[in-house]
Amino acid sequence: MSFSTLGLAREVQQAVEAMGYENPTPIQSQAIPLVLAGRDVLGAAQTGTGKTAAFTLPILTRLAQFANTSVSPAKHPVRALILTPTRELADQVGENVKTYSQFMPLRSHIVFGGVDIKEQIPALRAGVEVLIATPGRLLDHVQQKSVNLSQVEILVLDEADRMLDMGFILDIKKIISMLPKRQQTLLFSATFSPEIKKLSNEFLNDPALVEVARQNATNDNVEQLLHPCETHRKPALLAHLIRTHRMGQVIVFNRTKIGADQVARELKRGGFNCEAIHGDREQRARLETLQRFKEGTLQILVATDVAARGLDISELPYVVNFELPNNPEDYVHRIGRTGRAGAKGVAISLVDPGEDKAYALIQKLIKKELPLTPVPGYSPGTTPVQPERPNRGERRHPEERRDTTEARAAAPRQSRPRGNDIDVPLPTKPLPSLPKRPQQIAALFLPPKHPVSK
Ligand code: AMP
Repeated sequence: MSFSTLGLAREVQQAVEAMGYENPTPIQSQAIPLVLAGRDVLGAAQTGTGKTAAFTLPILTRLAQFANTSVSPAKHPVRALILTPTRELADQVGENVKTYSQFMPLRSHIVFGGVDIKEQIPALRAGVEVLIATPGRLLDHVQQKSVNLSQVEILVLDEADRMLDMGFILDIKKIISMLPKRQQTLLFSATFSPEIKKLSNEFLNDPALVEVARQNATNDNVEQLLHPCETHRKPALLAHLIRTHRMGQVIVFNRTKIGADQVARELKRGGFNCEAIHGDREQRARLETLQRFKEGTLQILVATDVAARGLDISELPYVVNFELPNNPEDYVHRIGRTGRAGAKGVAISLVDPGEDKAYALIQKLIKKELPLTPVPGYSPGTTPVQPERPNRGERRHPEERRDTTEARAAAPRQSRPRGNDIDVPLPTKPLPSLPKRPQQIAALFLPPKHPVSK
């Protein structure tokens, strides 16, 4: 199937061609005709499937008849409202809408919290056909009467599962109550929990179900590697993996903001080009960091789940879970940052015995056994190897100092990589064989009867 058979507006088709898209992705070929026909849609789509274009292209086509160059705000009422859970996703969807509408005089605007509301008001007052917003900030604007939602014809709830997780349900209900009675509603969610089903029963009218992947499935393009590692050895293992895999760019996920800061600090101390993003960082700093990462001038982005949600970086080959997420669905989202639009990706997780429960839940959710592969020198039961030498003057973990002494005694002299060098040969020794069904991580942390590697 080609885009030209889908019935998109000429200007939208032109934008798709300018993007270099050759064929619609499965979610696009399924959803576009339904949205064009005015149906409500319940979309179960993984990240990286092209879902943003799946709803944006037909919405712009439906609104093409209203495109005009008048300066009168009355000629530009909000006709499509796209709600997203996070600022980053709002920003990203907004960028997509701007790109896809570049050849038509339709206005779009993005509003999210964490920045001065006054700066957002003039654009809203001037009139905008497509509004992309986070729920809280949208309600602030409604209260300040800087936006009128009475002419909204199409509502999109993007990443609805995350909006519910983040406690936006009341805000969403409030916003829907302000919209005209019968609008077209499109709900997209990576996962289908009972709450999502309830939301769709309540607000969608005979929705067409569009599903492009098994529920809660991980993308087959993503190779999943899990390495057992005690918490205090994780920073050293992370640095080792970044070097040995020669990771050009990588997102490192952390559960907490403090944890993300700590990991970023450790990596910086090791000479890596690295920044953390999370909710405590100023909005401007977050967007600047994301921009640097997207441009490729930042190698490592350490992020919390919320901050990284919706991050669309094409061709990201690696993600690392410094810790497993408590919520197994976040694992699916995290590793969905790589292997996008058919590309290959690698997702690496560092797993401590305390994460046994999270590890079991993830396997249950994705219905796949994920074996743990020890990394010689870093995983329990393996002889510690000489760690990468940190920059001069850097303080090291006492465990690492101990490792160095042991390794010096055991290993022949060899040149060691420094700082951000990535030209370290890949390990040549085969990895040790695994227990048959390593369901219990703790078992791997027992003292070995025989050392696994030398
Ligand atoms: P999304 O799932 O909306 O976050 O999109 C993931 C990535 O796929 C984005 O970088 C899009 O630009 C890209 N993309 C969307 N549709 C297509 C298409 N039909 N062909 C190639 N790439 C696409």
